[in-house]
Amino acid sequence: MIRPNMHYGDLQDSYLFYNIAQKTRSYLEAHPGAHLYRLGIGDVSLPLCGTVIKALHEAVDDQSDKDRFHGYMPECGAPFLRSAVAGYYKKRGVQLSDDEVFVSSGASDELGDILDLFDSSCSVLVTEPAYPAYVDANIMAGRKILHLTSGIDNGFLPLPDKGMVADLIYICSPANPTGAVFSRKQLKEWVDFANANGSVILFDAAYEAFIEDESLPHSIFEIDGARTCAIEICSLSKTAGFTGTRLGYTVIPKELERSRMNFNDMWVSNRTTKTNGVSYIIQKGGAAVFTEEGQREIRENIQVYKDNARVLMDALEELGIWYTGGKNSPYVWFRCPNGMGSWDFFDYLLNEIQVVGTPGEGFGACGEGFFRFSSFGDPEDTKKAAQLMTALLSKG
Ligand code: PLP
Repeated sequence: MIRPNMHYGDLQDSYLFYNIAQKTRSYLEAHPGAHLYRLGIGDVSLPLCGTVIKALHEAVDDQSDKDRFHGYMPECGAPFLRSAVAGYYKKRGVQLSDDEVFVSSGASDELGDILDLFDSSCSVLVTEPAYPAYVDANIMAGRKILHLTSGIDNGFLPLPDKGMVADLIYICSPANPTGAVFSRKQLKEWVDFANANGSVILFDAAYEAFIEDESLPHSIFEIDGARTCAIEICSLSKTAGFTGTRLGYTVIPKELERSRMNFNDMWVSNRTTKTNGVSYIIQKGGAAVFTEEGQREIRENIQVYKDNARVLMDALEELGIWYTGGKNSPYVWFRCPNGMGSWDFFDYLLNEIQVVGTPGEGFGACGEGFFRFSSFGDPEDTKKAAQLMTALLSKG
């Protein structure tokens, strides 16, 4: 008899986005025609930039020409895109060879697939509050998970704890949901800890392009020692609006080895077995992001989101509410006022001013009492929502 992967039975139902959808639907049923201010959105709202669209069109035309047509692409990524990504890292002083860059269909796919490189007996440390997929992907594989929580006392930037050593360590910076960003010194602590214990850090850099403080690292490979203990997973979803187009990249240094197994070689084996590469058209669009014009245009879009974040931060500052994130991230994470719980505050904002955010409790128990606003929404809606919230909460 077939024995299914019984670990799927260990998944906790995630009520977060389901509950949000249910509650907003019920509100709209009871208040037909009401306008909701959506600050819970994790998707981008601006279209792809002109340079990317032009490259996509040209690539489509290539596919109509016998001499320019592309069939299967190299499994690990088109050389032109691997080289463009390596060039992007070089601008920040990180030297990568092109074959340390693997093209992917996005960070979500890769965060799940990369676990193939590790035995199911490996233990996992998740720094929380966290993007829920880290936990769920490992539950599916039956791995033991350690939850390293954080809070206001450490600015939601948890540092290594000698009592919590694990084989795999998830770090997301700038973090979803908190928007907090690790400094070089803090990341160095993680790198030294991982090297000392033989751990591998899975570094999620999906929001690196939102960092504006010069002193903050965009990549873990800006930190000495990371080449022997880290894999970096990145995405063009939030950087360049590819959420629906699907493209990302993963960096696996040649030096990364455990038990005489080389992870870069292993990933080549994995990709050449389990994928036939990302489509030529999409990779052409992605390469356009790394051109001078592409970089200028995506920065304009990111600035729109950053302006939204500024509006939300100003409102929280005026209200004297503790928050983190926003400046170097599309997310603003704040303490619910008057000791309210995350879901109570969700209901309060929805019912009183029709603002929809994301309750922090959905990202791990230590998120209870906190709330996440996203800056990916419409600028006018964001301004109005900030005004309404300021008026509501200043009433006391
Ligand atoms: N990692 C983090 C921290 C995210 O917030 C997201 C998406 O919201 C992803 C990865 C997934 O990105 P992608 O669209 O590339 O799958």
